[in-house]
Amino acid sequence: MAWRDTETDKVTSTNIRTRVGIVGAGPAGLLLARMLQLEGIDSVILERRSRAYVLSRVRAGVLEKGTVDTLIAVGAGERLLREGMPNKDVQLRWDGVCHRVSTVDENGRHLTTYGQAKIVEDLIRLREGDGLPIHFEAQVDRFEDITGNPVIHFSEGGVAKALHCDFIAGCDGFRGVSRAHIPGADAASFLREYPFSWFGILAEAAPNPALRGFAHSRRGMAIASARSDKISRLYLQVAPDFKVDQMDDEAIWDELDRRFVDGTSNRFNRGPIIEKSVARLRGFICTEMQYGKLCIAGDAAHIVPPSGAKGLNSAVGDVRVMAATITRYLKEGDSTLLENYSATCLRRIVPTVHWSCEMSDTLHMFPGQSEFDTRMQYAKLDSWVSSPGGQQRFREAMLGQPYPI
Ligand SMILES: Cc1cc2nc3c(=O)[nH]c(=O)nc-3n(C[C@H](O)[C@H](O)[C@H](O)COP(=O)(O)OP(=O)(O)OC[C@H]3O[C@@H](n4cnc5c(N)ncnc54)[C@H](O)[C@@H]3O)c2cc1C
Repeated sequence: MAWRDTETDKVTSTNIRTRVGIVGAGPAGLLLARMLQLEGIDSVILERRSRAYVLSRVRAGVLEKGTVDTLIAVGAGERLLREGMPNKDVQLRWDGVCHRVSTVDENGRHLTTYGQAKIVEDLIRLREGDGLPIHFEAQVDRFEDITGNPVIHFSEGGVAKALHCDFIAGCDGFRGVSRAHIPGADAASFLREYPFSWFGILAEAAPNPALRGFAHSRRGMAIASARSDKISRLYLQVAPDFKVDQMDDEAIWDELDRRFVDGTSNRFNRGPIIEKSVARLRGFICTEMQYGKLCIAGDAAHIVPPSGAKGLNSAVGDVRVMAATITRYLKEGDSTLLENYSATCLRRIVPTVHWSCEMSDTLHMFPGQSEFDTRMQYAKLDSWVSSPGGQQRFREAMLGQPYPI
């Protein structure tokens, strides 16, 4: 076990040393860096994209209470507490009727809406405010000596560089390089591809409180949520090969109105669409999340279909385990948490992926779906709203699994 009492220091312009090399400046990498900083452990973050790209990426927005508490605990809660919107029930719509399930539990826990881009910005501002490094446009290529003295090879500004560290944190998302460095990761990875995509839309349009949540429709699923009182976040189920410019803005609003139709005169408030993206739906788990002094977290290790709004929240769960694991290992020379890293993370991840897949299976129209299948989906949806037990199960799943650490 290596415990070096050194500060992060530049050895040469192409050789850098730190305690923990973090690959990726998404929510997982940035949160981990902050948690390590609070433990007095130096880290360097390498991010292949530009600062502007990272700050502008629109994605998650529904936070579990545990995610909110974690961000507050690391000092990243100031704006979140000010601007985060309490999300106290979920609307589920099917067969033209809207139903509500409370997502407030007996302890008053509820969901919060606060955009992922803001979380990323808050964490970057905190880190840079403390004068700590984030290398943007630094593409990691490969690792060396993961079981001994790890080195991360990367290129920055066209120059090949090496980051020497005691530990590597692979927080580089689904298409990153870290997972491939774990022997056996491929054989321990399990994937489900859904036969459709999500068309994500961000619009400068005041959310209509009567039209929000999930709409099961024979035309395909739709989702409506608020990012603020002026900004709407909307999704449409689309074909897997759908292209963002395939529908003009009016057609998008018309389609949302059709899928949310509920026998009333309610319609979406329309406004300029400021961002459009298409994401394939998949479920993925890699059950080998650690090798030597490398651990992976977040989307690098698992992807959930976004119906359950669990991706970012799952990354936070992993990072809590990773921060404790690295801290124990580097400060105390104790590798117990390291040896159990995958199993500890998976205790939370597997039921979370299961719930996200269950929601996806229930809410979407599948190619060739029969009327029987649709009626079974209605029955499942009804089970989540019609009995106290069903509501409790839905609420618990939405609020999130307890943290293992
Ligand atoms: C449309 C959509 C909607 C979503 N909605 C929700 C939601 O409502 N709630 C929720 O909880 N989750 C949601 N998610 C999921 C959530 O956004 C992700 O789970 C979350 O971003 C995972 O964070 P991460 O840090 O693990 O990975 P990422 O955010 O993917 O970050 C990984 C980073 O690593 C960088 N990187 C990759 N390879 C390299 C390399 N070789 N060298 C250097 N850097 C590298 C990438 O550029 C990236 O910045 C949604 C996702 C999508 C696509």
